[in-house]
This record gives sequence, structure tokens and C-alpha cells, in this order.
Amino acid sequence: MEEDRAPARAGAVVKLYNTLGRRLVDFTPIEAGHVRLYTCGPTVYNVVHIGNLRTFVFEDVLRRHFLARGDRVTQVMNLTDVDDKTIRGAQSAGLSLPDFTAKYAEAFFRDIGRLGVQPAEHYPKATEHVPEMIDLIRRLEQRGHTYESEGSVYFRISTFPDYGKLSGIDLEQTRRGDRVADDEYEKEDAKDFALWKAAKPGEPSWPSPWGEGRPGWHIECSAMSMKYLGEHFDIHTGAVDNVFPHHENEIAQSEGATGHPFVDVWLHAEHLIVDGEKMSKSKGNFYTLDDVLARRDDPAAVRYLFLSVPYRKKLNFTWEALSAAAAAVDRIRSAAVRLEEVSRGGRRSGGFPSAERAAGFRTAFAAGLEDDLNTPEALAAVFNYLREVNAAVDDGSLDAEGARVAMDAVAAADGVLGVLPRAPEVLPAEIEERIAARNSARKRRDFRESDRIRDELAARGIVLEDTPGGTRWKKTGSV
Ligand code: AMP
Ligand code: ZN
Repeated sequence: MEEDRAPARAGAVVKLYNTLGRRLVDFTPIEAGHVRLYTCGPTVYNVVHIGNLRTFVFEDVLRRHFLARGDRVTQVMNLTDVDDKTIRGAQSAGLSLPDFTAKYAEAFFRDIGRLGVQPAEHYPKATEHVPEMIDLIRRLEQRGHTYESEGSVYFRISTFPDYGKLSGIDLEQTRRGDRVADDEYEKEDAKDFALWKAAKPGEPSWPSPWGEGRPGWHIECSAMSMKYLGEHFDIHTGAVDNVFPHHENEIAQSEGATGHPFVDVWLHAEHLIVDGEKMSKSKGNFYTLDDVLARRDDPAAVRYLFLSVPYRKKLNFTWEALSAAAAAVDRIRSAAVRLEEVSRGGRRSGGFPSAERAAGFRTAFAAGLEDDLNTPEALAAVFNYLREVNAAVDDGSLDAEGARVAMDAVAAADGVLGVLPRAPEVLPAEIEERIAARNSARKRRDFRESDRIRDELAARGIVLEDTPGGTRWKKTGSV
């Protein structure tokens, strides 16, 4: 219905906890009505684990919340497809770097699709943005922030007095030699970090003004965020492990190059732990989404479990908690089914003030999210409301029209929660059209474009399979 698309709480303040400054801030986008959001994405050397997925679902809820308010969102999520881990992985698998990483990028899109994560507007790959990274390093060079050593380029932290403003790291405390990897002995200071790494034999490399080499990890997020979102944008997210050194270094690189603020609000999700412990392969508590779904095939329950804890608190994954989440999702589903039945008519007395209660629910739900994305508070509003509505169904006071009003309110909330079954969003004709566009890109050997279309479809839960008889597609399952 038209009114569902109207901003739920136009003008209401969204409070967010900004890691930069460590306080709650009243958020307003730089450009009115348009939120520009950068979310650090996966390193595609492995299948993502449920901890990574918790962070991606948090970012999805943030995105959906702004959309529900009527804002436009431009979200960028990078794919780290060249770094130590991807290079090592490709070497031991005996594959080229692109072949190795493509497999994990596809698995990533499949996983987020199953958890109902909406696609971002851009999924830039590091390997496709090396020129942009080189440009940024040159800007830093021109402003005196770098030094070169044996074909590598480093950021000299002592040239950026604000270094440490995000993480609060005390540079005086960190002695020379701390955390210096073996291959980085040529740095002048332990905390200086590589912007460009000289090529090593057998590793992929790109030409640069400093010779053959490859970018350091941090520079990709500065270069790609500024390319797609501008040099100053609204929100940058990740999990707590990203605060230092990754995001601290991103600030140094971006503000060092531009001389002005980079990002207004930094949000960091706490980690997911399993049975109270850090996930690790050796403890046997390391789970991928496939592992979890093999035991309980209910992606919506996984999503709900993630939402049941505020993003700034650790989330303890247990099988009991997953069962409780599945039961909660069932309650929402059965309430939705009952409302559907009532909306189809039948004799009922009426009298339940449906419009008024629905409006109260929408306000309470939005207020939870506006409180630094407090998803448990928003879920509590859902259950309070469903309790009232269920009682009204029981005593006959909810009539068909009232049920339709309630259904709309629940559907609007689920626009953010994403736990109710979805109607298929993509039409076969639309997919066929994208496949045709991909085939013609392949014919003209524009593999960048054909990969982009494949990734775009994967992000929408459509996996392509190239067979001798042509390209087939299948849906990877949905929440
Ligand atoms: P990575 O592939 O390691 O670059 O991580 C992708 C995203 O997952 C980043 O935002 C990380 O901060 C986040 N992350 C890594 N480990 C966890 C965890 N245990 N719980 C939640 N998020 C995590
Ligand atoms: Zn990043």
C-alpha cells in the first residue's frame, strides 16, 4: 500500500553509537535523505563463518532501517580478493587467484542471500581497483605521508597527528618491534603500515610507480569507499576487530590524502562467540551457515537469533538459543497466517481499535531501532502488538478491515526484520534478460562485466551454471 512507503517517522532522530568519540550521536546524513554507507566485506579465501554473517546481518538491518524511514541508501561492500591469505590459499589449491577467490565470493553471496541480506549497491573487488589505490598512494606521497623502502611504500604514522583517534591506541606505549611481521623489517617504525608491497616471486603483481607489487590491505577500503561514496560520507561499519588497525589506518590514509574528514559515524558490531568461547577450528566450535543449516534448516531462525541481541553486545551462539529463535519466528509466522485468514472476511463483531494500535506499534518499533538499532527492543514491540492482536482475533473483535491494517503494520516491520517468508522478488524474465546481457559481455570478452552480472545475480540469490546447452539458473533458497 502507498502509505507503507511513506517515511515511518520522518524527522525522528536516529541515535547511533559512534566509535569515533565513543558516544551516542544524533545521526543526520550529509546529503538530506541519502545515507552513504561503507561496510567492510569478506576476505574471499574461505567460506564465511556465522560470526562474519552476524556482522553482515547487522549492516543489513541498518540499511533496511534507513530505507523504511524513506531514505535512499547507497551501500558499498568490498570483496578483499588479494592479500596474504588469498594468495596463500590460491597457491596451495594450485589455482589462479581469480579462480580461487571466485568460488568463495559466490559462496558468500549465497550465504547472505539465504539470510535475507539485501544486496548492496556496489561490491567492488580490490583487484579491479588497483589504479585507484595507486592514485591514492601518490596523493599521500605528494603530501609527505609516505616513504619507500625496497620497492614497498609505507605510511609514516608520525606525519598524521590524529593517528589513534578512532581506537584510542597510545603510540607511546607501542615499542619498536611490537607486532612487526617478519617480512616487514624494513619499516622505520613498528606501527607504520604498508600501502604498497613489493612483488615477491610467484605472487600476483601489478605495475606501479614503485615497481611491480600489490596493494596493502587497508588502502583498498579507502580507495573504493571514496570512489563510490565521495571523499566524505556518512557511515562506515565493521566488527570490533576492524577498529584497529584497519579502520584507524583507513582514516590516516583518507584524511592524510584529502586533508578533510573522511567518515562521520563509525559503527562496530561485537563478535559472535559459540558456547561462550571464541570460535576456532581446533575447538570444533567453528560454524559456517551450511553447518548450522545442516542441523536446523531454518535461515530465518538464524537471522532472528542475530537480531535478538543488540549489535554492540557479544552474541553467544548456542543450539538452545537457535531453537528459541525458531520458536519466536514461528509465533510471528502463525500470527501473520491468522491475520490473513481474518482479512478474508467472515462474521466478526469488530470493535478492536486496529488503526490506533497499529500506529502505536509502528512508533514503538521504530523507536527501538532509532535507539542505536536496538533490535531486541523492536522485537519486544512486535510481540506486545501480536499479543493484543491475537487476543482480538480470539474474542472476535478484529474484523477483516482491521486485520488488513494489522497485516500491513507487521509487513512494514518485517521490511526491516526480514524473517517472514518472502514472495519471489525476481521474475524469470528479468533473470533471462541479465543472463543475455552476461552472454553478450562474454562474447565481446568483457569478463569484468560478465563477472559483475554473475555477482549481481548471486547477491539476489540466483546462481548461474554454464552448461553445454546454455546458461541455467537456480534459486539458492530464501528466508
Ligand atoms: P574478514 O573476512 O575477516 O575480513 O571479516 C569480514 C567481516 O566479519 C568484518 O567486518 C569482520 O570484522 C567481521 N568478523 C570477523 N570475525 C567476527 C566474529 N567472530 N563475529 C562477528 N563479526 C566478525
Ligand atoms: Zn575494510
